[in-house]
Parts: sequence; structure tokens; C-alpha cells
Amino acid sequence: MRPRIAILMCAALLVAGCDQDTPAIDTLPFEPSSTPATTSDLSTPIASDPTPTPTFRPTELAPTPASLDRELEDSPTQRARRQQLIAGPVSSAVSDARVLAAMSAVPRHAFVPTRYLDQAYNDYPLPIGHGQTISQPSLVGMMTEMLDLAPGERVLEIGTGSGYQAAILAELTDQVYTIEIIPELAGTARRILDELGYTDVHTLRADGYYGWWEHAPFDAIIVTAAPDHLPAPLVAQLSPDGGRMVIPIGPVGGYQSLWLVERNGDAIDMQRVLDVRFVPFTRESGD
Ligand code: SAH
Repeated sequence: MRPRIAILMCAALLVAGCDQDTPAIDTLPFEPSSTPATTSDLSTPIASDPTPTPTFRPTELAPTPASLDRELEDSPTQRARRQQLIAGPVSSAVSDARVLAAMSAVPRHAFVPTRYLDQAYNDYPLPIGHGQTISQPSLVGMMTEMLDLAPGERVLEIGTGSGYQAAILAELTDQVYTIEIIPELAGTARRILDELGYTDVHTLRADGYYGWWEHAPFDAIIVTAAPDHLPAPLVAQLSPDGGRMVIPIGPVGGYQSLWLVERNGDAIDMQRVLDVRFVPFTRESGD
């Protein structure tokens, strides 16, 4: 992976070189959360069972919004704006033709609240409510390219947010799993994905720190919020047969580094790619 120079998220950031220490993988044994489950299917007691399973993960149904503040129609004007974005800033950051085609196919404007409709095809993040943002398009493209997804490969996204990145992934493979911690965002993203025909994207409202064990291993994992360490459950769920993970890691409120993690057997290779700024990776139970 070659280093790149990019303008990212809220700030202009240059790749300063890979002089930062590789962050330690969180090697603590996986401990089930003591937070009580909120739905009946999560009632399996696990205190004496150290095996990570989804049964104890705190979760709840994501509420489907009664009304949707989104423009779902893909008008010629929006299509023309999208092509300008792809031909300009996105093409400067991304060279994979499949990724560019995926970004041309997905109507980003349908994933942003209608008051930002006019800005949907500018190369910067936009608010989606609950203090969260839809990521900058060129960064979405770069991270997607780093995943190097082949059709049929299984990919897990942590941080569904608007659902935009999940739709891009769904243009590349039919095995997309995505987790969002904020119920309202999870519900809204689910509805948008359904309305746009991305019905086979699997969504879950949960703390993505634990991944999605039922569907592991994943050929690729993309994390779109920044934790301060590499979550051990995600490494455990990465395919040992060349699995790739793209993840920003760093302090809350500061700049983070975007890492490409590759797993072969028990060997974990980490490359720091560039500096970025993401919203924080939040936790449900605080471990
Ligand atoms: N990929 C998104 C970007 C969303 S911003 C898009 O295309 O729009 C990051 C998202 O990560 C936010 O919605 C935030 O709520 C979510 N998030 C933060 N911590 C999380 C966690 N532990 N598990 C799942 N989602 C999390």
C-alpha cells in the first residue's frame, strides 16, 4: 500500500511518514459484558462461559423511522454532480475501477438529511444526526480500495452511520454485514438501504467492538469510527487466510492513524497508511 496525501474529514492532514509505533493489539482475554441483555433472545447466561458468543452482547431492535427525511430519487442533476465528484476528488485518491464504479452507482444524496442535499456531492463529511457524520467521499473510496474486496467475499463494517459505506460495499460483494451502535441511526440506515434496493445488506444494532461472531470469519473488516486500540474480537474474526482490516486508531478528539491490518494464520501485519480524523468509537459497557 503506497502512502497517500489526502484532505480528510474536518482537517487537512498530510502523511508524515510511518514513524508511529504500531499500536498493541488488545490481548486481554475476551470478557462478556455485565450489562444486562435487553431482549429475550439474549438471555443465555454466560458468566461461566469464556467463549465469545453473540448471546450476551447488549442489543435491541433498531427503530424504523416513521418518516424519512431523505431524497431517494436519483435525478439527472444529482447524477451529474455525482459524476463530477467521482471524476474529480475521488479519482485523485482512488484508482481501482471497481471502486469508482461502485461510487458512481450509489446515490450519496439519499443518505444525507434533505437540508444537506445541495452539499451531498462535495468532498467532505456531513452531519447525519446524533453527533455523527457520513464520511468524506474520497476517504470512503480510499478505505474501500484498501479492502481489496473480490465478489463473494464477506465484509464486516463497524459504524453503519448513514448506510452509505455499506451500500458501496454491497456494489462490490453480496456478503455485507454492518453494525451500528446508535439505534436511531441503525433504523434509518436500514430503511434507506431497503428503499434503495440494498435489501441483502445485513444490519445489526449493537456495540461493534465484539464483531459479529455468527458470520465470522470475514475476508475484510472496515471500521469507520476510531477506537484507541485494535479490538481483539475483530482480529479474531478476521480470516486467517489473508483477511484485511482497515481501521483508524488513535486518541479521541485528536488525529488518528489509518491502519491496514492483514492476517495470515496467527501472523498480524500492520501498515500505517495515513493520518485521519474520525468520530470516536463508543462503547456500550466501557471495557
Ligand atoms: N460508515 C458511515 C460513517 C459513520 S460515522 C457512513 O457511511 O455513513 C461512524 C459511526 O460509527 C457512527 O454512526 C457511530 O455511531 C458508529 N459507532 C461508533 N462506535 C461504534 C461501536 N462501538 N459499534 C458500532 N458503531 C459504532
